[in-house]
Amino acid sequence: DHVVPEKPVPQRPADSTVEISSRDRVVFPDSGQTKGELADYYEAVAPIMLPFAARRPVSLVRCPQGRARKCFFQKHNSGGFGDSVHHVAIREKDGGHEDYLFIDDMRGLLQCVQMGTIEFHGWVARSDAVETPERMVFDLDPDEGLGFEDVKRAARDIRDQLADLGLSSFAMLTGGKGVHVVVPLTPGHDWDAHKDFARRFAEALSMAQPERFTATMSKAKRKGKIFIDWLRNQRGATAVLPYSARARSGAPVAAPLAWNELKNMDNAHSYSINDAKTLLDRAQSRSLHGWGFADQRLPDL
Ligand code: ATP
Ligand code: MN
Ligand code: MN
Repeated sequence: DHVVPEKPVPQRPADSTVEISSRDRVVFPDSGQTKGELADYYEAVAPIMLPFAARRPVSLVRCPQGRARKCFFQKHNSGGFGDSVHHVAIREKDGGHEDYLFIDDMRGLLQCVQMGTIEFHGWVARSDAVETPERMVFDLDPDEGLGFEDVKRAARDIRDQLADLGLSSFAMLTGGKGVHVVVPLTPGHDWDAHKDFARRFAEALSMAQPERFTATMSKAKRKGKIFIDWLRNQRGATAVLPYSARARSGAPVAAPLAWNELKNMDNAHSYSINDAKTLLDRAQSRSLHGWGFADQRLPDL
C-alpha cells in the first residue's frame, strides 16, 4: 500500500567533495603531514595542476600506510577508485589492450588521494591522442657526487641548446634530486620521431661534453656526471607531473620555476605540500605566466 515513487538520481556538482577517510593518518612520518593535509594540498593546487595532469594517462605512487611503509607504482586500472577516475584502453606491444588511468577534475585527483596516492606521474601524451606525444621531458639525474649547482648549470645549457634549435623550454624542480627541462610541443609527430629526437639530443650533448654528461642509463658510466634521462620520452614512459607531491622525506612537491628563479635555488625539494598558498600565488605571477605552454614543433636534428 505504500509504494515509494522512484526518486530521481540526484545530480552531483562536478566538484562535489570526496570523502577522505583516516584524515589523521600520518603519511610523512619525518615531517608529520597527514593524509588530510595531503588531500587539502591537492584540493588547493588542483586549479594549477589539472592543466598538466588532466586527460593524460597517469601512473600513481600509492602508499596506503604512508611513505615509510610499502609503496607501489600503479599504471593500470584495478577498480575501486571511484567514479571520477577514468580509464582508457591503450594498445600494448603484443597487440592486446590494457586499461590506463586518467583523471579529468579535482574530484578524480582527490579520489586517487583517498586511495593512498602520494605521487602523480603522467605520459607525455594526452589520453585521447596517445600516439602523438605533446611534450618532451629531459630528466637530469646527477650522480651522487654532484651538487645542485651542477644540475642547474646542466639545465641552463640544455635550455640554450634547445633555444638554438628554436625550442622554448621550462624548468621544474622534481621534489627529489634533479630538474626536469620540459619542452611543450604541438602534437603531430609520432613516438619514433619523438624518442629519436630526445635520444639524439641527449647523445649530442654527451658527445660534446663527455666529462659532464652521459646519455646512457648505466650507473657505472654515470660517475661524476649528469645522466640526461631522455627515456621519459618513449611510449608508455612517465614523468612526475607538475605540483605532484613526492613520497620522500619532508613531503616535497614538483615545482615549476621560471629560468631566472632557478639560479637562486639550493636544491630540488624547496617546496612542500605546506606551500600550497605560495605555489598558487607564484602560478599567478608574471614570471610563471605561460609556464609549460608553447606552440612549437620538433625541428629536424
Ligand atoms: P629525481 O629528481 O630525484 O630524479 P624524478 O622524478 O626525476 O626525481 P627518477 O628516479 O629520475 O625520479 O624517475 C624518473 C621517472 O621514472 C619517474 O618520474 C617515474 O615517472 C618513472 N618511474 C619511477 N619509478 C617507476 C616504476 N617503479 N615503474 C615505472 N616507472 C617509474
Ligand atoms: Mn630524475
Ligand atoms: Mn630518471
